[in-house]
Amino acid sequence: MIAVLASNNAHKLKEIRALLADKFEHVCSLGEMGINTDIDETGTTFEENAFIKAQTIFDMLGGKYAVLADDSGLCVEALGGAPGVYSARYAGSPCNDENNNSLLLRNLHEREKTEPKNRRAYFASVVAAVLPDGRKISGEGRVYGEVLDEYRGNGGFGYDPLFYCTEIGKTFAEATMEEKNTVSHRSRALSALREKL
Ligand code: IMP
Repeated sequence: MIAVLASNNAHKLKEIRALLADKFEHVCSLGEMGINTDIDETGTTFEENAFIKAQTIFDMLGGKYAVLADDSGLCVEALGGAPGVYSARYAGSPCNDENNNSLLLRNLHEREKTEPKNRRAYFASVVAAVLPDGRKISGEGRVYGEVLDEYRGNGGFGYDPLFYCTEIGKTFAEATMEEKNTVSHRSRALSALREKL
């Protein structure tokens, strides 16, 4: 069985392919399906946005393929859960990881002028699946950690160099993809989804 991932993010595609290798023959990118589109993420929750992306691509492909979509982000306690669903475009559109990371640090430092330092944060992911048999299911996952002051590691993407994952004792940018996939929000969301499949 073939699935399509409703995302243009090459990093997510790589992680999800590794996590679903035993379940789907191939997880296709949008490029492989000849689709070049930017989907407006108008939802206010990870779940809403994941289903908006999955359903849009499912419809564009005429309902013939299983379509998966991940919506994810970093939720920082001291910032009231921000950047949350706005993680990709936190510092403005189009998405720029470097600007997002520096804005996150600026906002935390600003906050810490008046409040005690609190760097607790978690990554959250909802993976939604829209299937040709009519089922629409989703799974959610989280991984907890803290936001560092300095960048550590060269791997991963997005906020990975600033996110120290307590469970593995390093940042996600210092971890190999295999290490990250053992604990990540996306792998947990996929496990939750698989249980429902
Ligand atoms: P989405 O593609 O709209 O779901 O946006 C997800 C955004 O959240 C990404 O652009 C990253 O900024 C952030 N994000 C989600 N998952 C991760 C991760 O595993 N590592 C680092 N940043 C992530």
